[in-house]
Amino acid sequence: MEIEFAGAAREVTGSCHILRIGGRTVLLDCGMFQGHRSEAREKNAVLPVEVREIDAVVLSHAHIDHAGRLPLLTAHGYANPIYCTAATRDLAAVMLADSAHIQEKDAEFLTRRHKEAVAPLYGMRDATSAVDRMVGLPYDTTFDVAPGVRATFSDAGHILGSASVALDCVEEGRRLRIVFSGDVGRNGLPIIRDPHPPEGADVVLLESTYGNRDHPPVAGARDELARIISETAARGGRVLVPAFSVGRTQELVYDLHILAREGRIPAIPIYIDSPLAIDATTVFAMHPEIFDQTEDLVRRVQDLFTFPLVRYTREASESKALNTQRGPMVIIAASGMAEAGRILHHLTHGAPDPRNTILIVGFQAEHTLGRRIVERAPMLRVFGDDVPLRARVEVLGGYSAHGDRHELQGWLDRVRSGGRSGTGGEVPRVYLVHGEPDAQDDFAEQLQRAGYPSVLAPTPHQRIVL
Ligand SMILES: [Zn+2]
Ligand SMILES: [Zn+2]
Repeated sequence: MEIEFAGAAREVTGSCHILRIGGRTVLLDCGMFQGHRSEAREKNAVLPVEVREIDAVVLSHAHIDHAGRLPLLTAHGYANPIYCTAATRDLAAVMLADSAHIQEKDAEFLTRRHKEAVAPLYGMRDATSAVDRMVGLPYDTTFDVAPGVRATFSDAGHILGSASVALDCVEEGRRLRIVFSGDVGRNGLPIIRDPHPPEGADVVLLESTYGNRDHPPVAGARDELARIISETAARGGRVLVPAFSVGRTQELVYDLHILAREGRIPAIPIYIDSPLAIDATTVFAMHPEIFDQTEDLVRRVQDLFTFPLVRYTREASESKALNTQRGPMVIIAASGMAEAGRILHHLTHGAPDPRNTILIVGFQAEHTLGRRIVERAPMLRVFGDDVPLRARVEVLGGYSAHGDRHELQGWLDRVRSGGRSGTGGEVPRVYLVHGEPDAQDDFAEQLQRAGYPSVLAPTPHQRIVL
């Protein structure tokens, strides 16, 4: 048995791990690399492994850094199953279509710029055939992935449909339980249930996005959101929120719904300015079976995502019209790291105005415009132009969909102690993935102090014999 860390190794994006067992090859995720445009483009174009070698793919969740290169596989003839949860399949349908559209636009742009034909990474047809390969399965039900590999999804509590995967592997009579964390969420996130770690593991592939950080509690985020909106509205400004269309946007709408019901925000319009977010919201509404039934609003309200202040702007013309509209408002638009999407034209217009607030609610990777905003760079580069940053910048860590270092360790401790009820279980070997080097190095030390003697953060394409 062998595992190769083909993506999200010493970095956050491009999640992809190749498991080789008894002559079979199983891919865990096949995500897009993000960040430096030309560098990411180059990395994304390389297939992690020959398509004819892949027997199956197991997908943890629909975020593009986990699912974004699946259409590249189908473009190269991949026709075997892609196993995921039902909600992940439905979300992936809208996200991969959007991604294909972005790839096509990107290629057009580069073709114009370089005056020679640049082919898109993949197109709409490839995205559709990737979704056709997806098999939607329930949580907590074991299924066959390939001969010698059985898998069980458990709720990762990160976005709708997100899963951690326990892989029970057998090779020549030897058994090994490998747990892939996927992205680990947090207790108390809106709408979705709390993370439910698999029980017991010999090997854990653990995400480490926030391996060196502490988050403020989820509970305080809604209060902060109310404060920021009220203060900005009082200045006559607008709140611009770059947000992932899938997950974060719905959580914000949900919390704004609660705040509006309780009369804790002024009655200003809230624009969800992203076609993808609108489609994803429809998918959310289709899967109430996996909502967190312990939450008040979930139990009491039939339609979580509709209330008098919220407006969904699908058309580009509606989006542009917001630039000339007067008065305070909230605009939630993609992309989450302000690398693309409609948030860019809102930033061009809104960043120079000190009455406005740019509200950051998610992780901002290195070399992204979002990271520049978090660092409060005096000048932003948007669409090739310099845009002064005079708006206020607020960072709300409470909305993070990723556990912090304590929550990640708590998740791992539960995997370990679940192995043998109450006795502490075997100590699994831990491979840290999905984190930048600083976060991983600190987190590895923390885990070693906490009684995990074998912790390693593999480098890209490192192969480990299990
Ligand atoms: Zn994710
Ligand atoms: Zn991720």
